[in-house]
Amino acid sequence: NIGKISLEQIDALSGKSFPLCMRHLHKALRENHHLRHGGRMQYGLFLKGIGLTLEQALQFWRSEFVKGKVDADKFDKAYAYSVRHMFGKEGKRTDYTPYSCMKVILSNPPSQGDYHGCPFRHSDPELLKQKLQNYKVSPSGINQVCPTTSTHLTRFSTVCVKGFLKLNLVEDAGFSLNHPNQYFTESQKFLS
Ligand code: SF4
Repeated sequence: NIGKISLEQIDALSGKSFPLCMRHLHKALRENHHLRHGGRMQYGLFLKGIGLTLEQALQFWRSEFVKGKVDADKFDKAYAYSVRHMFGKEGKRTDYTPYSCMKVILSNPPSQGDYHGCPFRHSDPELLKQKLQNYKVSPSGINQVCPTTSTHLTRFSTVCVKGFLKLNLVEDAGFSLNHPNQYFTESQKFLS
């Protein structure tokens, strides 16, 4: 599916078909014109997985970063390498794959100023409620999705799927979630 989406589609897609972790990263990027390394990796690989080409990815990150404190020259010197790296064009030339939910949930927890991670695992419950409100999930939907105090790994993806049902207005998702890119693909099925 490489090259199947255009950069102009990303804002709309993020509202319809991105899981909460990726919506959150997208919003933070648009607002701050920057994401730290953990966020760039998690979101960058997700975007690669939904079909962005390397050229599109460079354009996407550059155009957002130059709206903030990074000029085009600095972007090319300090950030373009890591985008190419993600696509296996630098260093060991590993063609990195997008992170699974398990990886997002279990490794590299976000610190202050980070936006990566899984909101169902890493957000404070009040903050999570607010986020869902901002995303126009109904109050009853929010109560179903929150609070999640369990530390069981599958609990988070189950809760995420509940959010999926609310957002996609369907009764039965018909899949069990283990990957943010799977969330995207499944959501696209409901929209097509
Ligand atoms: Fe993202 Fe998976 Fe968490 Fe959902 S359960 S928000 S897809 S990491």
